[in-house]
Amino acid sequence: MTLNDTLRHQGMRKKLVEGLKTKGIRNQMVLEAIGKIPRHLFMESTFINFAYKDQAFPIGAGQTISQPFTVAFQTQLLQIEKNEKVLEVGTGSGYQAAVLLELGAKVFTIERQKELYSKAQNFLPQIGYHPAFFFGDGYKGLPNFAPFDKILVTAGAEQIPEDLKQQLKIGGRLVIPVGSNKRQEMYEIIRISKNEFKSIKHGGFNFVPLLKGTVNF
Ligand code: SAH
Repeated sequence: MTLNDTLRHQGMRKKLVEGLKTKGIRNQMVLEAIGKIPRHLFMESTFINFAYKDQAFPIGAGQTISQPFTVAFQTQLLQIEKNEKVLEVGTGSGYQAAVLLELGAKVFTIERQKELYSKAQNFLPQIGYHPAFFFGDGYKGLPNFAPFDKILVTAGAEQIPEDLKQQLKIGGRLVIPVGSNKRQEMYEIIRISKNEFKSIKHGGFNFVPLLKGTVNF
């Protein structure tokens, strides 16, 4: 892979950001992050011309890099502040992790498919992004590193995993798509106190499913 970011790519990114604004993304920090990150480098080379369309694309192992609007929408809901501890479930290409890092978060990202985990762990540092990478089942979160200020799930869950709720700080926020494997509703869950959670719904999305266990290739 050539780590090339040309003026043409930069121009395409600008257009993508304009498009996201017209679709309702308002958070300036999120727009700046997307304007800065060379998304085309996260995808197979044959897809380079698609990298800056507002669409999801295959990244291998039957998975996809989320659509830019979805990345922006989830990130905006999280309301990230500098130095917050953030857990991402579903590293995939690593693109969403890069967005969180651009916002100044300390990112812990977990992936259940070995191939994707290894690829992201090798690639992200090459372009200057250094989250903590974990190979494992994100359904269980990362109990040894909890609690987190924010938790982001980037695959569609049938139910909200109790372990993830319990790994939120009081006042912390979980953003997770919940529903069947075809269609999910975006949930924002705020931990009000030890035992109280407030839940807000934010419309329909379409994610690959959150699966249990790990895959060793
Ligand atoms: N955030 C990614 C989106 C990848 S799609 C990106 O920016 O590219 C969702 C990812 O979640 C897939 O890579 C899939 O393998 C992973 N996944 C699904 N269930 C998981 C689980 N229980 N734990 C960790 N990762 C999971």
